[in-house]
Formats: sequence, C-alpha cells, structure tokens
Amino acid sequence: MAELAGPRVYSCCHCQNNVCLHDDIISKAFQGRNGRAFLSSHAMNITTGAKEDRQFMTGLHTVADIHCRDCREVLGWKYERAYEESQKYKEGKFIFEKDKIVQKNR
Ligand SMILES: [Zn+2]
Repeated sequence: MAELAGPRVYSCCHCQNNVCLHDDIISKAFQGRNGRAFLSSHAMNITTGAKEDRQFMTGLHTVADIHCRDCREVLGWKYERAYEESQKYKEGKFIFEKDKIVQKNR
C-alpha cells in the first residue's frame, strides 16, 4: 500500500541531501564496512574520492569512496573496476552503507 507514494529516495543521514533513488537499487544484500549495504546503479549529489585497490571477499576491485556533496560524509564507495570476470557487473555502480542513508518520500 505504501507503494502508492511517489518515487522513494534515500538521503544522507546527516543533511537530508538526496543521494539515491529506491528504483536504482539493485541489491540490498551487500556487505559494507560496518554492516549491510545497498548496491545502486546510480547516485546523485555525491563526489568521489581517490581511486584505490581494495580486496573484498569477491576479489580485488578498484574503488573510490563516495562523499555527500553537502556535508562530506563518506556514504560508501563506487566500483571503478572489477578484476574478476564474475564481478564485472559492479563496475560503475555504487555501494551505500545502510546506516549512512535514510529513506524518505519525496
Ligand atoms: Zn550529507
């Protein structure tokens, strides 16, 4: 029934800056640094930090931290490159830490 509401968005937990659309979320079963995280195909109102190689359970990836454009909070990271063939689908996509974003109705 809540589906009748307008497009749902997720915003920064600190400053309410909209950073991600609910419809862009591909999976909610990812692991962040501190718990659950979402994989999203798009992000908005964020800036990306320096690229670095990071080892995950699923192999080596080149990632860049993503920051809220307004308050600079680190919200997650962007997958710039995946080295394992099976992980290529993550390239160009974004991880949002679940405890860094809040859902709201626009
Ligand atoms: Zn913010």
